[in-house]
Amino acid sequence: MYEGKTVLLVLQGGRWLLQGHDVQVVSTDNDSRAASRMVAGQLEMALSADPTPPPTPGAVVRHHYNFFNRETDVQQAVTDLLARVKADGQLHVLLDEADFDSSAVHGPRLTTLVARLAESVPGLHLWAAGVRHDAIPPSLRPEPLTVPLRCAPSVLREVQTAVDRYQGLVHNYSDSGVPAPGDGLRVIRLSHHGNAHRGRWPVECQQCGKEVAAELLRLGVGSGGSSLPNYRDVFIITRSSELQDDIEDDAGRVTSRASGVVRGLRDEGLPVCVLGNQDVIHNTARCERDHKDVAVAATDRVTVTRYDYVQGLERRVVVMLPGRHKVNEGRSDDDFDTIDRLYAISRCTTQLVMVDVPPVTTATSTAT
Ligand SMILES: [Zn+2]
Repeated sequence: MYEGKTVLLVLQGGRWLLQGHDVQVVSTDNDSRAASRMVAGQLEMALSADPTPPPTPGAVVRHHYNFFNRETDVQQAVTDLLARVKADGQLHVLLDEADFDSSAVHGPRLTTLVARLAESVPGLHLWAAGVRHDAIPPSLRPEPLTVPLRCAPSVLREVQTAVDRYQGLVHNYSDSGVPAPGDGLRVIRLSHHGNAHRGRWPVECQQCGKEVAAELLRLGVGSGGSSLPNYRDVFIITRSSELQDDIEDDAGRVTSRASGVVRGLRDEGLPVCVLGNQDVIHNTARCERDHKDVAVAATDRVTVTRYDYVQGLERRVVVMLPGRHKVNEGRSDDDFDTIDRLYAISRCTTQLVMVDVPPVTTATSTAT
């Protein structure tokens, strides 16, 4: 069965490897052993698939313990992992199937491990998946948004709006010590509005696809110029649950057509890779391949994706498509705008393109 959260660990781990960091993949009981093996295996594959590998990529190191049967394994894990801390104080750890539930035998032991690492390692980067929302140890906190890395200030200003709104919940950007590449380019705004546009949201709209494609081509995307972006440098990101590629049955017949925006992009000749909810459900094998491919930008294609599939990744050009989330849960438009800014716009390093949607005058904005 395909697991999105494991993919997120793989994407983040892949990024660390490409930056030259060793990645410690830790399983703490027999239940998490298979998941950890898969994470480690996918990381190694992603690294070997990279057409332009860095000169000194990191290594994947697997650790297996049995916290369930042996309490002494906790100290052993602390010792082993502290031995892996680099001279600059950094340690990169992935924990899949991390159940901190205090009513289970090994939950408190896992909490102890994370707390000991957090105390002892100043540069601890630890990502855990499979964590229950009501059992998150206090030493775990949102990490990926604290350092802006290479984002241009013009992009950061858009993200900052959301950080300000969520003061206290999201960590503010810290000074990364890395000079930003100028102020970046002016944010480009397109509009899902006018005669040829169809549907409530840009994701459904073929015309929006065509206009986004035209804008990308105008920016020189894929034209081959040495300083210009390639197709692989572009993310088109949405929170919409409705994004999908053609869905095919076992005989290869299309049972449900690709979203309008995807068809519009292809009409203009852009090579496109799509990662939507329905693709993950119906085209599992292709999606697994594409996820790995996108993690290392192996193939020169524009990626159209749900925001949650590209956490930890960045691209020079990001196109933001507002969309409807299936589960609205009474969230306000501001909440959704915040999600867009934190999870989509923050993926952009240089050129941001926003597709604006005219406000609704009826109750359709709260439909599911
Ligand atoms: Zn449109």
